[in-house]
Amino acid sequence: MAKYNIVLLPGDGIGPEVVKEAVKVLQVIGDKYTISFNFTEALVGGAAIEETGDPLPKETLELCRTHKYILFGAVGGPKWEDLPRDKRPERAILDLRKKLELYANLRPAYLFPSLAHSSPLKEEILKNGIDILVVRELTGDIYFGEPRGREALEYGYKAIDTAVYTSREIERIARKAFEIAKKRRKKVTSVDKANVLETSRLWREVVTEVSKKYPQIELNHQYVDNCSMQLIKNPRQFDVILTGNMFGDILSDEASMLIGSIGLLPSASLGERDIAIYEPIHGSAPDIAGQKKANPIAAILSAGMMLKYSFDMPEAEEQIKKAVISTLEEGYRTPDILREGDLPVDTETMGSLIAEKIKTYK
Ligand code: NAD
Repeated sequence: MAKYNIVLLPGDGIGPEVVKEAVKVLQVIGDKYTISFNFTEALVGGAAIEETGDPLPKETLELCRTHKYILFGAVGGPKWEDLPRDKRPERAILDLRKKLELYANLRPAYLFPSLAHSSPLKEEILKNGIDILVVRELTGDIYFGEPRGREALEYGYKAIDTAVYTSREIERIARKAFEIAKKRRKKVTSVDKANVLETSRLWREVVTEVSKKYPQIELNHQYVDNCSMQLIKNPRQFDVILTGNMFGDILSDEASMLIGSIGLLPSASLGERDIAIYEPIHGSAPDIAGQKKANPIAAILSAGMMLKYSFDMPEAEEQIKKAVISTLEEGYRTPDILREGDLPVDTETMGSLIAEKIKTYK
């Protein structure tokens, strides 16, 4: 029997509520595929600050290093908002990604047909669906480049940020995107600003070079300003969008808005070794925490991504997706996606409905 150790980092607010439902679904998958998932929970974020004074205690980091597969909820909340930036709960997720060398952020934006009305786009644009995966480089670019800072001038200040990319950093994220595209619709759109930026010119050269090893994948390049328009005009043209840290930050949020609710969107952060973090893209939602209103679908789909990318079980991920689609088609909705005539359910019921559906599949 295959055995996997999974670290659960539920965190704060709705984090623990949605992680619980994702675990419920993983347990059903474990029984079906005779896999033993061994879950170990650890402290992170505000919950960790309360117990240890540190948003990412040493023990938690060590556990993540040894167990490798991490299911993260969300961190943060009003209680810790006044702490200095490097002591706040949100520091934990940035530090985890950095210390575990997770350089590839995968953010799928998939439109559930029965929720097409929640998309701000017109029906005629949505009729062929949206199924995009943004692959964002996570450790380089203007967010980390040196020099950075602020200097006093005779009048006012000068502030500096520096965009830096090495060919090695571009090459490894490009390889990741092409490998993933092999298992999708075999198209990569690389997004840059090569008409203006030196880093983007290097980006385009390296991506083009890497693409030669993947003749079965269609590659096209788009400038970031064009891509932001195309996402709204014709999102169906995209399969995998490959891009740097800053453009990826903005475009992945734009892509997620096309889908409707933030409670539906999963993500994965991967590295060179097989350590990976899977997490919903939403935060701890203090406004609804403890009220059983949280939509657990983003967390459940994040567990699905773990099955696909860490355990090479794409068929199990497909079963989860199919169960989510079918539950939504039957009209069950948490409050964030509820409309008149729908069947209102709470967090736990939504998780159970999805889990029970999976049990009925062959
Ligand atoms: P948020 O994502 O927590 O909430 C934004 C809005 O979306 C809220 O109205 C919330 O109720 C709703 N929402 C979010 N997830 C939902 C779900 N699963 N089901 C139903 N509704 C959902 O963003 P915010 O309000 O800007 O931030 C709240 C806290 O979370 C802050 O402390 C912020 O720093 C933190 N945060 C953490 C992460 C993370 O842990 N990765 C990400 C973003 C924000």
